[in-house]
Amino acid sequence: MREKIVAGNWKMNKTFSEARQLTTEILNQNLSTEVTVIIAPPFPFLQSLKDATKNSNIKIAAQNCHAKEEGAFTGEVSAKMLASMEIEYTLIGHSERRAYFHETNSFLKEKVNAALAHTIKPIFCCGENLKEREANHFFEVVKSQIEDSLFHLTEAQFENIIIAYEPVWAIGTGKTATPAQAQEMHAYIRNLVSKKYGSSISAITPILYGGSCNASNASELFKNPDVDGGLIGGASLKAQDFAAIVNAMESIVVANA
Ligand code: PEP
Repeated sequence: MREKIVAGNWKMNKTFSEARQLTTEILNQNLSTEVTVIIAPPFPFLQSLKDATKNSNIKIAAQNCHAKEEGAFTGEVSAKMLASMEIEYTLIGHSERRAYFHETNSFLKEKVNAALAHTIKPIFCCGENLKEREANHFFEVVKSQIEDSLFHLTEAQFENIIIAYEPVWAIGTGKTATPAQAQEMHAYIRNLVSKKYGSSISAITPILYGGSCNASNASELFKNPDVDGGLIGGASLKAQDFAAIVNAMESIVVANA
């Protein structure tokens, strides 16, 4: 079966002591071993949380990385630096990076290359905004985000990609995609990957849903055959809510075993 993943994107939230506290609370939930559980705290907390989780099955991700290895890029962090801390995953192309930091598909392509060059798995975010959804352009938008930033990769490289479909209109708004809307887009993405890389690669590519996913709606979203878990923002900031989402995925894995 395809890997199932629940990843928490903490964004720019929590002080250092709050981040350590939340990590302790998440560890105390004794989360599933059937689901890959990832947390993505802010950069300054990575090493401490990596140490705190080292004897657990919780993985640590960065929220971003720069495309260059090093140099005069004040305030940035490279994939090379993350790899030197043994960080295994990074978000790339979150809609907030695209919107507020003007990250384009071609720049994100360079970031994907940088992450893979350092054996860091990209959690590549894509998704349409409200205007694009209402104009029925959502398939084209997601297609070009994926094609422009990922489809130069070799098959061997693509096997390390995790895709997160995050409709921008659902992020932090409390307005979730319906399970049918999520499944429709995830199936579309899987088909796109299949046409480019073949069915055996598309069958193992995890495609996560993100956008106001919470303890109450996770189960219905995750039941869809092409939804392999979630990228969780707001609901990942409370250990019990995050655990409930992981457990929703776990129950589905167990039921389908
Ligand atoms: C996100 O920012 O990746 C996200 C999914 O946020 P939220 O769950 O808060 O909508």
